[in-house]
Amino acid sequence: MTEINWVQRAETVTLQVRNFIDGEYRECRGKDTLAKHSGRDGRLLYELPSGEEQEVEDAVANAKAAFEDGRWSRLPVQQRKKILFTLADLIETHAEELALNECLDVGKPIANALGQDVPAAAATIRSNAEGADKLYSNVYTDGPAPNMIYQLRKPVGVVGGIIGWNFPLGLATTKVGPALAMGNSLVLKPSEFTSLSAGRLAELAVEAGVPPGVFNVVHGSGAIAGHILAHHPDVNLLTFTGSSSTGKQMMIAAGQSNMKRLMLECGGKSPFIIFDDCSDNLDFIVQDAVWTAFQNQGEVCAAGTRLLIQESIKDKIMPKLLEQAAAIKPQDPLDPNTNFGALLNEPHTDKVLGYIANGKQEGAKLILGGNRVREETGGCYVEPTIFTEVDPKQRIAQEEIFGPVLSVFSFRDETEAIKLANDSTFGLGSNVCTTNIGRAQRLALALNAGVIGILGGETLSPGGVDIGAEGHKQSGFGAEHGMAGLASYSVSSSVYLFA
Ligand code: NAD
Repeated sequence: MTEINWVQRAETVTLQVRNFIDGEYRECRGKDTLAKHSGRDGRLLYELPSGEEQEVEDAVANAKAAFEDGRWSRLPVQQRKKILFTLADLIETHAEELALNECLDVGKPIANALGQDVPAAAATIRSNAEGADKLYSNVYTDGPAPNMIYQLRKPVGVVGGIIGWNFPLGLATTKVGPALAMGNSLVLKPSEFTSLSAGRLAELAVEAGVPPGVFNVVHGSGAIAGHILAHHPDVNLLTFTGSSSTGKQMMIAAGQSNMKRLMLECGGKSPFIIFDDCSDNLDFIVQDAVWTAFQNQGEVCAAGTRLLIQESIKDKIMPKLLEQAAAIKPQDPLDPNTNFGALLNEPHTDKVLGYIANGKQEGAKLILGGNRVREETGGCYVEPTIFTEVDPKQRIAQEEIFGPVLSVFSFRDETEAIKLANDSTFGLGSNVCTTNIGRAQRLALALNAGVIGILGGETLSPGGVDIGAEGHKQSGFGAEHGMAGLASYSVSSSVYLFA
C-alpha cells in the first residue's frame, strides 16, 4: 500500500464550515467572526460566524416538523437500523477524509484519528443501531386476564446536542447514534474550535437514507448558538458533553426554559491507583498509566491525571514512569509515526502552561517536562509533564487541566488510597491496578467514578463493548452508551389495559 502524504493532503483540502439544515448545507451567519487557528502550526484554518437566532430556529423547526410527520420517528425500526448500519459503513468509507478533519481540528496524531477515532465513531453508530429493537417493555398482568400493564417506550422528540472539541467525531456519534436509533430528530452544535466533521457526518447520514430534517447541524459560539439551542422551548432533551462549568449553565437553561430532559457528560480528574500486590507486572502497568495520562495529549475527559502509588513500590515505579513518559515527544500530528501531537490552540496552551507554573508556585516538584516545545513551527506543543510532592488540595491536584500534566501521589494502604482517589469534585473514570480480587471489588464499590478499569485502562478505549456509563458528582449525570444510554433518549408511558 502506498503511504499517504498527509501534509500534502492537508495543503490541498478545502476546509468549509456550513450549517446542515433540512438535508442541505446553508451558509452560517452571525454578527461576529470566530477564527480557527491550527494547533499544529498556528495558521488560520477557517473562520466561522458566531451564529444567530434564526439559524437555530430553522434547525429546530425542521427537526420538529420531521419528528412530527413521522418520516423517521415512525419508520419501522428495522429500516432505521439498516440506514444506521449504512451510515457506519459510510464513515469507514470516508475514514481518511474524516481522520484528516479530526487531526487538523484537534491537533491529534493522524494515526490515532485514523486508527481509533474514526473506527470508534462507526462502532458507536453500529452499536446503537444494534440496540434499537432490543429495549423490551416491562409487562405485568393483573387481576383476571387479559388485564395488562405495560410500558411503552417512545422517542423524546427533538434532541439538542452540544459537544466539546477533544473527540469531535466521537462525541458527535455518541449523541447521533442513540438519538437516531430511538427515532428522535436532532440538532447538533459542535464546538466552535472543531467544526469540520459534524456537517459531513450529517451529510453522510442523508446519503445513508436518514430523511432530510432529521439530523441538523448548527455552528457557532457557545454564548450564541449553544445558548439559544439550550434554551429552546421545542428541544425536549439536551445532551451535553463539555466542561462542568458549562454543564451547570445547561441545568440553568433547562430550568429556565421548558424543563427539558438533560444529560451531562462533563469533566474529570481521574485517579490511576497502583497497589504493591502487582509488582510483577509493572512494565505493563506503567505503560498503561502513561497512556491513560497522556493519550490525545492529555486532552481526554477520563485521563488518569492523578497517579496514586503504594509507597512500598514507588521506588520501582518512578524510574520506569520517567523513562516511558520522557520517550513521548510532541511531533507533527500529520506524521503517521507521531503518537503525541499538538494542543488545541494558543489560549488552551496558555491555560495548560499556567497550570504548570501554578503547580511549581504552590510547591509541587516538577520532575519531567513542563515546557512548550517546537515553537519554531508556530504550533502548540507541550511536553508530557510530571509533578511529585503535590499537595492533594492544590490546584493542579484538584482542577481539570485537560493537557499532558500528571501529578504523582503515594499512599500507605487501601483506606488511604480510597480517600485520596475520592478527594475530588469529579467522578468520571478510575483505574485500579491490583491482583487481589477482593480488593478490586472493594475499590469498585468505594470509588466515586462512572467507569472503573481494573488492571488495564487501555482496554477501556472507545469502540470496545459499549456497556454504558454515567458520570458521578460534578462529572455529570445520565447514562450514555449501551442499552441504558439508548433508554436515555426515550420516554416511557405506562399503559394500564383493561380489556
Ligand atoms: P466547554 O464546556 O467549553 O464547551 C462545550 C460545548 O458547550 C461547546 O460546543 C461550546 O460552544 C458550548 N457552550 C459553551 N458555553 C455555552 C453556553 N453558555 N451555552 C450553551 N453552550 C455553550 O467544553 P470544551 O472545552 O469544549 O470541552 C472540554 C471539556 O469537555 C472538558 O471538561 C472535558 O472533560 C469534557 N469532556 C467530557 C466528556 C465525557 O464524556 N464526560 C468527553 C469529552 C470531553
